[in-house]
Amino acid sequence: MVHAVLRFIHDHGSCSDLEHVNEVINAHGGSARLRDEVLRHAERCPVTAESFGHELALARYSPAQPATHAFLATAQLDAVWIHDGILDARDYKTGSRRTLRVADDPRAWVQAWVLGSIAQQKGLRLQLRYEHLAAEIDEDPEFWELDEEELNATEDRLRYEIIKIRETDSWAGVNEPTACQFCRYRSICPDSAAPGEATWLEIQPATSSAQ
Ligand code: SF4
Ligand SMILES: [Zn+2]
Repeated sequence: MVHAVLRFIHDHGSCSDLEHVNEVINAHGGSARLRDEVLRHAERCPVTAESFGHELALARYSPAQPATHAFLATAQLDAVWIHDGILDARDYKTGSRRTLRVADDPRAWVQAWVLGSIAQQKGLRLQLRYEHLAAEIDEDPEFWELDEEELNATEDRLRYEIIKIRETDSWAGVNEPTACQFCRYRSICPDSAAPGEATWLEIQPATSSAQ
């Protein structure tokens, strides 16, 4: 919920305006925890920045020869700002911290590479930051700033991983009910421990009325 609320707050005002923040949170029936997360975000928000977008879904294609080395990557970005010559991408986190450096997280490799071409087109430096909004997390992971060399290295790293995936011909799913019940692939996965139930109408064979 914090992602949608922050988007609304930024679209209709500023997260540094406490009156606006309280109004939005109350209108959404928000909890004290949500309010705390929004206030923790406001401490690190680049409030004077230009917004490039919120909750963005972007894609980028990398052609290559042979064709099996080409790939298409998609990335979700919670908020992207432009300020001080920087394309500043933020990922809001409400759970535990899984990495000490954004640069070590494979999800960030994809986000960085997908955003990289936009940063280059606009002549901006690219930065990725994780904002840990839960009060239990004291410190964000070290942010990641990428120059052209780092962007090219990230593309090579992604291609290397994708080639490894394509060369693997034996796959086994985790077959674990807790993971499978929320998995978006469970309806087609042969290893699912929680196979999807069809929610669409099934066509029944016609019953014969001939006597
Ligand atoms: S449904 Fe399949 S792909 Fe999804 S978590 Fe379970 S085993 Fe993995
Ligand atoms: Zn903000």
